[in-house]
Amino acid sequence: MSSQADSEAFVRPPGTGARSRRSGVAFELIGCAWNGHSLVGTDAAEVAAEDALVVRPGDDGTRWYRCLRCDAWLLLPEPTAPTRARPAARDEIVLPARGRPLKSRYVLRLIALTRAFNVLVLLLVLCGAIAVLVNQTALRDDLVANATTLQSVFGGQAIGQLESLLSGGAGPLWLVAAGLAVLIGLETAEGVGLWRATRWGEYLTFVMTTLLLVPEGLELTSSTSPGTIIGMVVNLAVVLYLLFSKRLFGLRGGLPAVQAERDHDISWAALARHLPDRATARA
Ligand SMILES: [Zn+2]
Repeated sequence: MSSQADSEAFVRPPGTGARSRRSGVAFELIGCAWNGHSLVGTDAAEVAAEDALVVRPGDDGTRWYRCLRCDAWLLLPEPTAPTRARPAARDEIVLPARGRPLKSRYVLRLIALTRAFNVLVLLLVLCGAIAVLVNQTALRDDLVANATTLQSVFGGQAIGQLESLLSGGAGPLWLVAAGLAVLIGLETAEGVGLWRATRWGEYLTFVMTTLLLVPEGLELTSSTSPGTIIGMVVNLAVVLYLLFSKRLFGLRGGLPAVQAERDHDISWAALARHLPDRATARA
């Protein structure tokens, strides 16, 4: 029914055309699936032309709302009980993470989950040490067996070394338990710092993981089990990712470059840049 000219004349609703920016996994969709879309003006009685970047009037008591995270435009009814006259001003709105900073946040959280797993294993070993200290050797054996099972499933640090510690070959057991407690504290701090995407969390993880590469490298000289190799490859990848992608120690522009990357993807200018052309023409 439509000619080429007709289809050219048709202005698609904004956001429904082909994605004009990067291809691949849209991490914003994961964020929106988890947190819901980030909309502006759903509580406003009226919208004006200057709000067109994020909200526009529709037909028959509807409005188009643009998600500030994933750029989808949603057609929703106008609010029946608005609580403010106009949508919030730009300086009142905290823009959600998107683009490369959002992808980076997910990678950091993935690393944080591995730290949570390490803490779980170390806690089992610490409980084993405490069990020995209070002469509960059967309990120690159970705890170490559980820790070993976890390691065999997920790979990672060499539980065998920790197990030998509990056999009493590495000095007073209370000293081993104290060392384990410190390690658990550091791994917990790493996990929290990474989960919250803090700079100190990135540096702490870099230092801790680099230090861990030394015993893992030594272990490779005596054992080439899949768990050891996988653990070392993962830790090496984490170190390289933090060093180059997170630009630690001033590499690739350092913190200013990280901030510039963030401003490029999480800003009102970024929202204007990703507005579909035809929608701009229609506005
Ligand atoms: Zn969204």
